[in-house]
Amino acid sequence: MKCSVKAELEQCNKRLMRQLKIQKILIEFSNHISGIFSTRKLIRCFVPLVRDKLGWSNFIVFWLNKSRHNNLEFLSVAATSGIFHAKKIEKLIIKLNEGIAGKVAKNGIPILVNNLAKETSISLIDFADNNNTVVINTNTGSILSIPMIYRSQVVGVIDFYSPKNEAFKNEDINLFSLLGSQFAIAKVNAEVFEEILILTISDPLTGVMNRRAMEHQIFNEIIKSKHYLNPFALLMIDADHFKNFNDRMGHIMGDIALKDISVRLKSLLKREDSIARFGGEEFCIMLPKTNEIKALSVAEKLCSIIRASKIVGALSQPLGYFSVSIGIAIYPYDIALLNNNSLNELIYVADAALYAAKRAGRNRAVLFSKI
Ligand code: GH3
Ligand code: MG
Ligand code: MG
Repeated sequence: MKCSVKAELEQCNKRLMRQLKIQKILIEFSNHISGIFSTRKLIRCFVPLVRDKLGWSNFIVFWLNKSRHNNLEFLSVAATSGIFHAKKIEKLIIKLNEGIAGKVAKNGIPILVNNLAKETSISLIDFADNNNTVVINTNTGSILSIPMIYRSQVVGVIDFYSPKNEAFKNEDINLFSLLGSQFAIAKVNAEVFEEILILTISDPLTGVMNRRAMEHQIFNEIIKSKHYLNPFALLMIDADHFKNFNDRMGHIMGDIALKDISVRLKSLLKREDSIARFGGEEFCIMLPKTNEIKALSVAEKLCSIIRASKIVGALSQPLGYFSVSIGIAIYPYDIALLNNNSLNELIYVADAALYAAKRAGRNRAVLFSKI
């Protein structure tokens, strides 16, 4: 009798210690994530915390996404830990109500499977690769799948897996759910922050970088150029006779034309290049690792692509078509002789080349070194 009381007490003590440990981790996790404003960094913090501190090495984190194409919700893999063939399931897409995670995402209620061998009602699609081959041993083990809930909305799911049967206690459901909720709050906060960040660096009309972001980018390009001793080109682009266009077609059509120009200019750029709206009807393009010859060739192609565009109202422009003029500055050569060879000076010389292009008749690109 005495013995069984002692054993019971020991069991109870063990359970309490485990709960205390998880609660400590929850507090640590909450402290850690409250200052993270990037979903990618959040995942990078979550995985080692659960694996190393909580001691749970096998799990998959899913985000709940909405398809832009048909508005349907689906789960995608955000991170995995300790899952054999993890690479194979990275691209896994789970529909709502599909597999264990899909059901949890749909209903917002955790699912505990204590013995996988006996589980026949739910398919294990969450642990399957693209060929539908399950990448964990399904003959044994247990799974606890919990929703990440923020304001009654599921924002993701975490599948915890153990090769042992009955690895999860009933009280784990509440504790792991708490972890999921904390993670959900942090995820939503990080997403809101990321959206605001995008708004602060984007031009609202065209969606390209705004002037503040552009200046930051030029500054970074100057640092890179100094470090790697590569030249880079700054193109200042201005729509020709745009006041005339607005006066004839109206500001709304003017706005549409500006959006159209930004799309056409972007279409010629490589991944490492960047485009910004400098202001009004002026754009600016940065071409890293680009010398005069290459920059002039790109700028002339940009002029041609705009001239060839069939923007409504283009035929009545003073030149008989829609056009842009471009001034080109090359860092560091074009500002090497200036006292303060930095951002403002580079913009200044690109502008000077642009005005030379205007004076020479518009619809052309001019290198600063040639004026
Ligand atoms: P130039 O060939 O010498 O550049 O002549 P321009 O008419 O393009 O230059 P100007 O500076 O005289 O006029 C620029 C015009 O661009 C006037 C302004 O109303 C228009 N503009 C600036 N920002 C916007 C905008 O966001 N939307 C619209 N629709 N028009 C804009
Ligand atoms: Mg202008
Ligand atoms: Mg203009």
